[in-house]
Amino acid sequence: MSSLRFEALKKINAQAAEVSATTKVTAIFAENVFTHAVARQFLADEAYKSLMASVKNGQKIDRSMANQIANGVRAWAESKGVTHFTHWFQPLTGTTAEKHDSFFTLKSDGTPIETFDGDALIQQEPDASSFPNGGLRATFEARGYTAWDPSSPAFIMDIGTGKTLCIPTIFISYTGESLDYKAPLVKALEAINRAAVDVCNYFDKNVTRVTPTLGWEQEYFVVDEGLFNARPDLMLCGRTVFGHSPAKGQQLEDHYFGSIPERIYAFMRDYEQESYRLGIPLRTRHNEVAPAQFECAPIFEECNIAVDHNTLLMDVMTRVAARHGLRVLLHEKPFAGINGSGKHNNWSLATDTGVNLLAPGKTPKTNLMFLTFFVNTIKAVHDYADLLRASIASASNDFRLGANEAPPAIISVFVGQYLSKVLNDVKERVGDKFDEQDESMLKMDIHRSIPELLQDNTDRNRTSPFAFTGNKFEFRAVGSTANCANPMTVLNTIMAETLRQFKKDVDGLIEKGEKKEIAILHTIREYIVSSERVLFEGDGYSEEWAKEAERRGLPNVKTTPLALDAMVTDKALKLFEDNNIYTHAELEARHEIELEKYIKKVQIESRLMVELASTQIIPAAVRYQSSLISNLRGLKELGLDGSSSCTRSNLEKLTRHIEEASKAVDAMVEARKKCNNIADTREMAIAYCTEVKEAWFDKLRYHADKLEQLVDDAEWTLPKYRELLFIR
Ligand code: ADP
Ligand code: MG
Repeated sequence: MSSLRFEALKKINAQAAEVSATTKVTAIFAENVFTHAVARQFLADEAYKSLMASVKNGQKIDRSMANQIANGVRAWAESKGVTHFTHWFQPLTGTTAEKHDSFFTLKSDGTPIETFDGDALIQQEPDASSFPNGGLRATFEARGYTAWDPSSPAFIMDIGTGKTLCIPTIFISYTGESLDYKAPLVKALEAINRAAVDVCNYFDKNVTRVTPTLGWEQEYFVVDEGLFNARPDLMLCGRTVFGHSPAKGQQLEDHYFGSIPERIYAFMRDYEQESYRLGIPLRTRHNEVAPAQFECAPIFEECNIAVDHNTLLMDVMTRVAARHGLRVLLHEKPFAGINGSGKHNNWSLATDTGVNLLAPGKTPKTNLMFLTFFVNTIKAVHDYADLLRASIASASNDFRLGANEAPPAIISVFVGQYLSKVLNDVKERVGDKFDEQDESMLKMDIHRSIPELLQDNTDRNRTSPFAFTGNKFEFRAVGSTANCANPMTVLNTIMAETLRQFKKDVDGLIEKGEKKEIAILHTIREYIVSSERVLFEGDGYSEEWAKEAERRGLPNVKTTPLALDAMVTDKALKLFEDNNIYTHAELEARHEIELEKYIKKVQIESRLMVELASTQIIPAAVRYQSSLISNLRGLKELGLDGSSSCTRSNLEKLTRHIEEASKAVDAMVEARKKCNNIADTREMAIAYCTEVKEAWFDKLRYHADKLEQLVDDAEWTLPKYRELLFIR
C-alpha cells in the first residue's frame, strides 16, 4: 500500500536542517526599503521635501514631483538588481495582491528602455473584476484602481521569483469607494488624529499629531510539507477537518518556551532575516502552548506601517517555509483539541511630543491625561462592543473564540486591580457638584504605583479579550489569519467618536462655568459609571462569566453571520459616516463580502469533508472491514470462532461507524442543497452555519475519528495528528 502519507514519512527521515549563517541585524535592517534616508540620497531636495510633506501631513504630490520621485525610486531599485515593479495592495480576500510589470518598454521607434514614471507610481489599474466588492463595482463603476500610499514606504521583495519593487497602495473604485483594508484604515487614523489632538490640547498645547501604535503578536503552526501535501484539508482549508487526538497532546505543557526544534529554528532564522531586510522589526520568537505552535512579535510601530508589516510577514513566512520543506499554518484552529492561534493587537496612542497617552504619567496633570484616554477607551469598547466583535468575526476565528482556550465572544475589558481601584475612587469621590474632594482627586499619584501596576497587568489574566497591559491595551480576540487593518479601523474609529463626544461634554461643562480640570474629572466619572459593566477581572473562559455577562446585558454572539449584523445597524452606519470612514453603500458592501466569505469557507470545508470521507476514510475502513470479515470466515471454517469475539466486536463497531459516517455524508450534501437555494445572503450564511456546520461537521467527524482509531494503521492514508504535530 503506497500513499502520500507513507512517502512523506519516509522522506522526513532524510531531511537535515540547514541553519543560515548569522548576520548582525543592524547590518541588514531595512536594506530592501525605500527609507527616508534612502529617499534623501536618491531624491533631489524638492522631491524629497514633497515626499516628506506627504508622509507627515498627507499633502498632495503633484505630477512633476511624482515623476522625480518615481525616477529616484527606480534608480534605487535598479541599483539593487530589480527589474519589475508592482502595486502591492490588500484586497478583502484577506491576502495581499500584486500585479507585476516590467520597467522595460519600447519607444515608438522600437528602442528598448527601462522606465518608471510618476503615473506608474501613483496609479495602476489591476484587472480587479475578480476581487470581492460586495456589488459595489456593479452599482457604481466597472473597475477599480490602486493608488500609491506614500505613508508606507516602497520595498523590494526578493524571494522566489527574483526581485520586485513593491509600491504599497490602496485599492478603490473609480467613484472613490474603498475596496480594500487599507483605505478605511488610513481614514480612521486621520479621524483619531483629529479627535485625540483636540483632547490632548486640554493638557498640552504643543501636541499637533496623535498616531495610533500597533504591536502585533503572530501565532502560527509549522508542519512538514510532505505531510501537508497528503492532507487535502490543510491544503484547501488551512485546517484539519478530521483527525483523532494523539495520545499525547499539550497536556504535559512541555512545548511552551521549550527549546526550538532544529529544522524550525533554521526556518525562523531565515524568515527573520528576510523580515529584517524588509524593515520588519521582529523582536521575539518562542514556542507556543500547543505542539508545533510558535509565535513571533515585533517592536511596535505606527499602526499603518505595522499593518503592512504583518501582512508582509505572513507572506514572507509562507514563502520561506517552502525553502525548508515546511508549511506555515496561519489558521486560527488548524487542529482540534489543542490550542488555536491568535494575533494579539497591542494598541496605544502616541503624540508627536513623544508621549504614550496610555502610559500613566509622572505628575498629577499627566495622570489626568492618562486617565482621560484610559477611560475613553473603556467607554469606546463598552459602547461599540458589538462592532469590535464584528471586526474579528470570520469562519476560521469562530473555531477559536470561546473554545475554552481563547477569549470568549463576549467583549469585556480587563484593567487590573490597581486601576480598578483608581476608577472606583474617582466614581465614589467625585461629587455631582464641584467640591474640594474633586480637587484632591487631581493629586492622585498613579505613577508611584507603576511597578505595582505593571506587575498587576502583565502577569495576570490571559483570558480577557481586551486587556490593559501597563501602557497599552491588548486586543486579544483578533484571529491569526486576520488582516489587523479591520480591527484597527474599528478600534480607532470608535475611539475617535468617543473622544469627540468627550470634548463636547467637557466643553459643555466649561461653558457652564466649571474649571477645566474639574469638568474633565466630572466627565470621566460619568463615563466610568456608564461603561463599568464592560469591566471584568475574572476568568473569561469560565461558564460563570457567560452567565454574569448575560445578567449585565453584554452581547455574546458566538457565530460570524450574526456577529456581522453589528456592521449595518443604524448606530454603525452613523458612526462610520460621521467619522468619514465608510459610506452606507461601502459598509453594506463590506457586510455582504464578509457574509459571502463565510458562506464560501463553510461550503468548501463541507465539500472537502464529504470528499475525504467518501474517497479516503470510508474506503480505508471498508478495506479493513473486508479483511476482518474474511478473517472471521476463516476462523469459523477452522472451528475457531469461539475465540473471535474480539474481532467480531471490532467488526461491529467498525460497521456501525461506517454506516453513521455515510449517513452523515448524505445528510450534509442534502443540507447544502437546501442552503444553496436561499436567495438572501445573510439567511444563507445563517443556514450554512446552523444546518451544515453545526448540524453535521462534528457528527461526521466523530465517526471518522472513531474509524481512525479502529482501522489498521497501514490502511490509513491521511497523516495522523501525532505525525503532523510531533515530527520535526
Ligand atoms: P511582553 O508581552 O512580551 O512582555 P510587551 O508587553 O513589551 O512584551 O510587548 C508585547 C507587544 O506589545 C510587542 O509587540 C510590543 O511591541 C507591543 N507594545 C509595547 N508597547 C506598545 C505601545 N505603546 N503601543 C503598541 N504596542 C506596544
Ligand atoms: Mg502580550
